[in-house]
Amino acid sequence: MSATLLPGSSAFDGIREHMIIDGRPYTQSDGPTIPVYDPATGTVIAQQLEAGPKQVDDAVQAARRAFDHPDWRDMSPAGREKLLLNLAELMEVHADELARLETLNNGKLLALSHGLEVGAGTQWLRYMAGWATKISGETLNVSIPFPPGVHYHAYTRPEPVGVVAAIIPWNFPLLMAIWKIAPAVATGCTVVLKPAEETPLTAIRLAELALEAGFPPGVVNVVTGRGEVTGAALVAHPDIDKIAFTGSTEVGKLIGRQAMDDMKRVSLELGGKSPVIVLDDCDVDLAIQGAANAIFFNQGQVCTAGSRLYIQKKIYEKVVGGLADLADSMKMGSGFDPTTQLGPMVSERHCKRVLDYIDIGKREGATVMTGGEPDESTGYFVRPTVFADVAPDARIAREEIFGPVVVAATFDTEEQAIQLANDSRFGLGASIWSNDLTRVNQLIPRLQAGTVWINTHNMLDPHMPFGGYKQSGIGREHGAAAIDMYLKKKSVCMAYAAAR
Ligand code: NAD
Repeated sequence: MSATLLPGSSAFDGIREHMIIDGRPYTQSDGPTIPVYDPATGTVIAQQLEAGPKQVDDAVQAARRAFDHPDWRDMSPAGREKLLLNLAELMEVHADELARLETLNNGKLLALSHGLEVGAGTQWLRYMAGWATKISGETLNVSIPFPPGVHYHAYTRPEPVGVVAAIIPWNFPLLMAIWKIAPAVATGCTVVLKPAEETPLTAIRLAELALEAGFPPGVVNVVTGRGEVTGAALVAHPDIDKIAFTGSTEVGKLIGRQAMDDMKRVSLELGGKSPVIVLDDCDVDLAIQGAANAIFFNQGQVCTAGSRLYIQKKIYEKVVGGLADLADSMKMGSGFDPTTQLGPMVSERHCKRVLDYIDIGKREGATVMTGGEPDESTGYFVRPTVFADVAPDARIAREEIFGPVVVAATFDTEEQAIQLANDSRFGLGASIWSNDLTRVNQLIPRLQAGTVWINTHNMLDPHMPFGGYKQSGIGREHGAAAIDMYLKKKSVCMAYAAAR
């Protein structure tokens, strides 16, 4: 543990540099240590261990032992519910520490760390806690005719899938950890979680709080390290029953192929290039603000970011101009400064990637309405950028940039809007801005997206299934759909003699 005082905090807040395996801090590693940065300043704030195959094996074995142990296997659903509720309470007790840790490591606005990472995180824990006691099978009316005189009672038994490998990205580190852990443990699974190498800190604290909440050792384990080392060892481990992955489509495809080879269950929450469709009957001011939120929220580092903006001709100039003005006025800076509206990119590497895309956009001939440059400050800042008149086949219109960069284009008819919106390998989210319910309802069924928002964007709820069409993924998180992903169904068929 390094003695770091988090900015703005009067109390000591510990940055953990160990992993959590089998209920204990784990400090062994065969690999190198990897620096963890504050992206607002570029300074190193911690060193994380890198779990190699041996450490990953220790974690998976711990999760397997916990899965088979009567303390967990025979725990009542109400027992699991209580543990999740305890964890939510403990997160609230440590809300300030967790939020500050997240802002320090990820760069996001402190209000967002409080409201989403911790606030929504506890909401999701409580929602999934409720599911623990509501999982049930079905009684089946079967018609087996043989042998004469024998009747059958058949039913299904939902059972936990087993040991889950959860691999998550860096954009919502604590919330994503909860999105995996909560449904997994609600169903009775055990978990080995690998946070992104950029943002391991809050996941480690969450696993510590899970122990304090009463989870038996080995139910929630955290291993740290790079994807191609620690993540790959986890995916390849023969004793993993299910892989729950959130990240890029490229890595998702690799993992999906390997999971199929080993017949492991797999769910994939992948990339996006979500369209925002602005119809000419909309409330224009609301649409401008909405389009800005859709792309600049969390610096555009959101899988459902509204990164393609399609505006009906009559109001095109007004909306693009309004969005550019709004982007221009945004204050960039540290997430700890309450006046900041846009924080840094998560890492130097990612910052460079976003800036490279901006250069590509300029070379492709798109009009830069605003932004288009790095910020001069220290840290990994990119000015919010609006490209206008972008051709549908431009790389900046087709590839996921994952930063505060939006491409705008215009359309005449709703038919064209649908064609533009669906012309993508991704299908995660989409929004429509309009006050005409008839037009909206005609568009909703034709959009190829896992979530469609009307006059809003990026809004999620634990009860709303979330996931991708096309190359944005396989499976659904949240709601009953998430619970199903961590269950397998056993059919039971019991013969008994017919009453005489
Ligand atoms: P990434 O795919 O590079 O990494 C995600 C995670 O996978 C990290 O923990 C990483 O260490 C690990 N990883 C990388 N290579 C691996 C390998 N070969 N084997 C096993 N694990 C490996 O993605 P990222 O850059 O961290 O995150 C951004 C991406 O995540 C974007 O594409 C974004 O759209 C996507 N995302 C999707 C959702 C969703 O719900 N659909 C949510 C958030 C982010």
